[in-house]
Amino acid sequence: MDFQLSADHVLLRDTVRQFAEKEAAPTAAERDEQMEWPGALVQRMGEMGLLGVAVSEEYGGAGLDYMSYAIIIEELSRVDASLGVIASVNNSLVCYGIEKFGTEEQKRELLVPLASGRALGAFSLSEPGAGSDAASQKATAVRDGDAYVINAIKNWITNGDHADTIILMAMTDASQGHRGISAFLVDTHAPGVSIMKVENKLGIRSAHSCQMAYDNYRIPVRRRLGEEGQGFKIAMTILNAGRVGIAAQALGIAQGAYEAALNYAKVREQFGQRIADFQAVGFTLADMATRIKAARMLVYETAWRKDQGLDFIKDAAMAKVFASETAMWTTTKAVQIFGSNGYSKEYPVERFFRDAKITEIYEGTSEIQRLVISRELTKE
Ligand SMILES: Cc1cc2nc3c(=O)[nH]c(=O)nc-3n(C[C@H](O)[C@H](O)[C@H](O)COP(=O)(O)OP(=O)(O)OC[C@H]3O[C@@H](n4cnc5c(N)ncnc54)[C@H](O)[C@@H]3O)c2cc1C
Repeated sequence: MDFQLSADHVLLRDTVRQFAEKEAAPTAAERDEQMEWPGALVQRMGEMGLLGVAVSEEYGGAGLDYMSYAIIIEELSRVDASLGVIASVNNSLVCYGIEKFGTEEQKRELLVPLASGRALGAFSLSEPGAGSDAASQKATAVRDGDAYVINAIKNWITNGDHADTIILMAMTDASQGHRGISAFLVDTHAPGVSIMKVENKLGIRSAHSCQMAYDNYRIPVRRRLGEEGQGFKIAMTILNAGRVGIAAQALGIAQGAYEAALNYAKVREQFGQRIADFQAVGFTLADMATRIKAARMLVYETAWRKDQGLDFIKDAAMAKVFASETAMWTTTKAVQIFGSNGYSKEYPVERFFRDAKITEIYEGTSEIQRLVISRELTKE
């Protein structure tokens, strides 16, 4: 068993770290405050191959492994979790889904621009009444000749207002329950597709999440992803892989907050000494470092399992639940170590604290992760 990152992985980590620190960090607080979409940075991520990391080179991707993908999302999120989720959605919720389930024509037409950064993708499963219970879709897709007519209200579509292609789930046969759901590759520039609102969020504010409407949107049959009725299975397969990305995002947020707290504790003095030398503060830093190390082991091992072709559903859920709770705990403690400065937007930890919370909610809440883990355990 080798616990060392390869030389290639170290080089990749250092390259992405340098990009995040030099190009993203200076604007992260302002973009967060203003809910400003990081258009130029998204373009740079595309040029660097960070938007199609694990997609094969044949389809415009970087052709790297999932370990590389985890490292990239961790490093982006260590500085700016908004960039982490923008990249994560495009990589694992969209590119992965099209590469795994798409036709050759769909890969050539849609995957190549998405993986090479010339287009952006989003994933649309959630609805006002369908969150954890994702199968209770109200969106409908009715076959009409060589097209389907889609009517839907969809919620919380990350990247939605900047996306060119959206993987959308809709009911093609409501009588079949979750087996009546199909997946589609929406062209967001077509008539009948509109943005209703961009959410004003607690965290990851520079990444946009939208509510969208589909009003008699006609989509050609050739843009159906997979077979009719396969949509729920496709969505769950995509989300299982996506959890590695969100776990890596949580890990990066925790690491960023820990480093900020460590540096602050070494320079802030009270009662004539560095606060790092108070045992209460030192022990908190020790617990942060320990939990982050454990989270990294889980995240990397899950990515490694996926690279080996091993089953990773339970492992991805474990990594996500542990890393996200580590992020929430670590960022809360980081604010505490900063004292009043932790409550100020002058310092980055209040942003990390707000950003951490979402990792316990999206791509399956912590409760749903525990449901997945316990089901897998009891089925074994
Ligand atoms: C910022 C953000 C970005 C998002 N991006 C996307 C996106 O790009 N695409 C997309 O499709 N969706 C997206 N989502 C939606 C997200 O995946 C859902 O919000 C999430 O799955 C939870 O659904 P819900 O909010 O409806 O909560 P609910 O399902 O209503 O859950 C409410 C509470 O009940 C608990 N609960 C529900 N069912 C159970 C159960 N069986 N056992 C125990 N507890 C349970 C939950 O854990 C939670 O604590 C995003 C959400 C946010 C906030």
